[in-house]
Amino acid sequence: MAQHHIETLAVHAGRAIDPVTGAVVPPLHFSTTFERAHDGSYPRGFAYARENNPTRQALEQALATLEGGAVAAAFASGNAATSAVFYALKPGDHVILPAETYHGTRLIAQRFAQQWGLQVSFVPMDDLDAVRRAFRPNTCLVWVETPSNPRLFISDIAQIAALAHAHGARCVCDNTLATPVLQNPLALGADLVTHSTTKYIGGHSDLLGGCVIAREHDAFFERIRDYQVLGGAVPSAFDCWLLLRSMQTLPLRVRAQSASALRVAHFLAQHPRVRRAYYPGLPTHPGHAIAAAQMRDGFGGIVSFELAGTEAEALALAGRLRVFTHATSLGGVESLVDHRASVEGAHSVLPRSLLRLSIGLEHPDDLIADLDRALASL
Ligand SMILES: *Cc1c(COP(=O)(O)O)cnc(C)c1O
Repeated sequence: MAQHHIETLAVHAGRAIDPVTGAVVPPLHFSTTFERAHDGSYPRGFAYARENNPTRQALEQALATLEGGAVAAAFASGNAATSAVFYALKPGDHVILPAETYHGTRLIAQRFAQQWGLQVSFVPMDDLDAVRRAFRPNTCLVWVETPSNPRLFISDIAQIAALAHAHGARCVCDNTLATPVLQNPLALGADLVTHSTTKYIGGHSDLLGGCVIAREHDAFFERIRDYQVLGGAVPSAFDCWLLLRSMQTLPLRVRAQSASALRVAHFLAQHPRVRRAYYPGLPTHPGHAIAAAQMRDGFGGIVSFELAGTEAEALALAGRLRVFTHATSLGGVESLVDHRASVEGAHSVLPRSLLRLSIGLEHPDDLIADLDRALASL
């Protein structure tokens, strides 16, 4: 399978004709427990569903295949996957994180990892000199998120992974926004990839999930597996089955969403009521050249922009859009608009007039007309 294109992998990875019935669609296994043999062994490899179950195993195989990894662990949410990586570290270890990262990742590092005795530093990951200066003798992990949520900052995965390796550290990339369709961090040198599968891989805003994918099945991944099984933040079999189903259309969805997002970004960039549009596909984006080199087939479905106006006007604009729904999250087939500063709360460092758009599968002309009308009404 590994030599096939991603469209083919997305349709077939982790799936096989059911040997018992000939079913083309994989059966959904709800059983939490599996029969033992007379000698007490587990002849089919399954014992108890928190440890493993056939539907989750199929999903993990498919996720590892799409990212070009050796192995994957599926979790009940993206945050559970992130936590698993931190749990695999030891007290006294130092982690370098991006100054702009998904706020849940930042809060896990600040509220929990530091209390477990991990040291954490936040650096602008798009500034390689700043990354270089942040290493300490005990640095064991560099966390990359590119494009970053919500301002789509771009960091150079290959360069950062090389720096991490030169210091004996691992590089992890949260690939939620790019998806394996647009970017393969493992091929660029990252050791681990995480996803919130709630977003593009799920793609329909109807399930929560996360995963960690490793380039090599090593002792560090075994720690993550151990935490998955013992910590128990595992996805339900049904959510695994839904993810396997959604994954089949991932390449088509992400490419269409990226093409529409580029058009929306160009529209916003020239609009007089927009102070600044953030999209790595715009040639004016400071990370455009790196994004063009490390991504392919598009720059993703998320566009953010700062309104030339107040927070109240930004919220009013979000409320006046009709095709976009004013709601958090991203990666679904329906377009969403989100005011991140008020979602993140009083501590947010984001501009108060920033709105994040998640571009869905509606026609881009309808999305642009909706934005045009709502902007004109301010
Ligand atoms: C949403 C998100 C997460 C967290 O995922 P959940 O499934 O909500 O727990 C992590 N990273 C990024 C980039 C995200 O957008």
